[in-house]
Amino acid sequence: MKKNEIVEVEITDLSYEAMGVGHVNGETVFVNNALPGEVVKAQILKDKKSYAFARISEIVKESPDRVKVPLRQYVQTGLAGLASLAHLKYDKQLEFKQKQVKELLSKAHLDQIKVAETLPSPLETGYRNKAQVPVRMVKGQLEIGFFRRHSHDLVPLEDFFTNDPEIDRVLLAVRDILREKRIPAYDEEKHQGQVRYLEVRRGTATGDMMVVLVCLDRDFPGLHAVVDEIKEIAGVKSIFLNHNPKRTNVILGEHDYHLWGKRYIDDKIGDLTFEISPQSFFQINSLQTPHLYKLAIDQAGLTKDDLIVDAYSGIGTIGLSAAKYVKEVCGVEVIKAAVKDAKNNARLNQIHNAKYYVGKAEELMPKWAAEGLKTDVIFVDPPRKGLTKEFIDAAVKTGPKKVVYISCNPATLVRDMQLLMEAGYTTDLVSPVDMFPQTPHVESVTVLERTQID
Ligand code: SAH
Repeated sequence: MKKNEIVEVEITDLSYEAMGVGHVNGETVFVNNALPGEVVKAQILKDKKSYAFARISEIVKESPDRVKVPLRQYVQTGLAGLASLAHLKYDKQLEFKQKQVKELLSKAHLDQIKVAETLPSPLETGYRNKAQVPVRMVKGQLEIGFFRRHSHDLVPLEDFFTNDPEIDRVLLAVRDILREKRIPAYDEEKHQGQVRYLEVRRGTATGDMMVVLVCLDRDFPGLHAVVDEIKEIAGVKSIFLNHNPKRTNVILGEHDYHLWGKRYIDDKIGDLTFEISPQSFFQINSLQTPHLYKLAIDQAGLTKDDLIVDAYSGIGTIGLSAAKYVKEVCGVEVIKAAVKDAKNNARLNQIHNAKYYVGKAEELMPKWAAEGLKTDVIFVDPPRKGLTKEFIDAAVKTGPKKVVYISCNPATLVRDMQLLMEAGYTTDLVSPVDMFPQTPHVESVTVLERTQID
């Protein structure tokens, strides 16, 4: 196949990245936005010998599961990175996520483990409590939007689809203030201009919003006039400047400077309040988070004598949610500021049986094990790369009756489950929870129970 060639292809599957999969003359073709059951004419974008990438030029036979995305720009601009499952009916998105876990288990010869139906999100769109959007000049005008996939071309947007609509309202209001005050957007090539990104966060339970201007300099002409106007936007309770002076793709710089209002915004998970600062990790789907944690905590079978570990604890949300059922919580998290937030959140909620430590889980856990720590239940919620063997070996040594695994990547979950099974733990169920509707991301909860006692 040659670049730009148009081929007719029947789509038979959906890849983990939500691309339609088909075959032409024995070669696999990944077609952006195509769905299983469809026949499409596809234009080849890239041919890599054994597989090719393509985009739809015409749908010959349409899937009954296709949703006409109201925001046609998403499809037209190839903005698939933002909401790349938005063209699939929601109930089919849930099935897709369940199937993904099933397939990964099956590949690992773990077909005996059941996969529950994916728990739907309370909101299918507009669920995100945080947005970080790039700011660039486009045709002489300051715009916010999204980078086209695999590029840094800004596609201007006004409706971000998965954001809380209140966040979109504030993003647009700040954009208009920056335009009016003639603040220059950052120019990557020249490494000049000012505003690189806008971050807006909203406490879903309180409605309070935080605006973070990610800028090249700490201060610049017009900044104070901009802040004076942003603080008048309804709902904005806190304004920060994040200083990012480097030539880098990383969104945030190291330092946040408080410009106005509160230093935190509050949100709730169940009956607990959490203070969120500009760089704290907080689950982005506030309404679904309590369901995720409940699933984990209910299945953990906690008792008042238990010592539990909250590993990869962020600002302490899981451990603090479980604290009232147990004797003691021991948390570990690598980011110092997050640990500070976790301690602060414990105090705020009058929780006195939770301790949080800064460190790498794979280093602290072996240290605790060597010191003879005995645990009852270990909660883990690692980033996409999952756990390490060192962590698992040490965790097992502390003798927990259960390991509760909250995973955002089913591939590493299955890999780690195998290690835990070799160490004498077992499970019969993985429960996917949809934290990220309209995207292919799969979150899940698995409780592994000890079967053998050495
Ligand atoms: N449990 C929290 C956070 C989960 S996100 C919640 O539900 O909100 C995963 C967290 O793991 C992040 O806060 C990240 O900073 C932290 N992390 C990443 N690598 C780590 C490591 N090696 N050791 C400890 N924490 C780590």
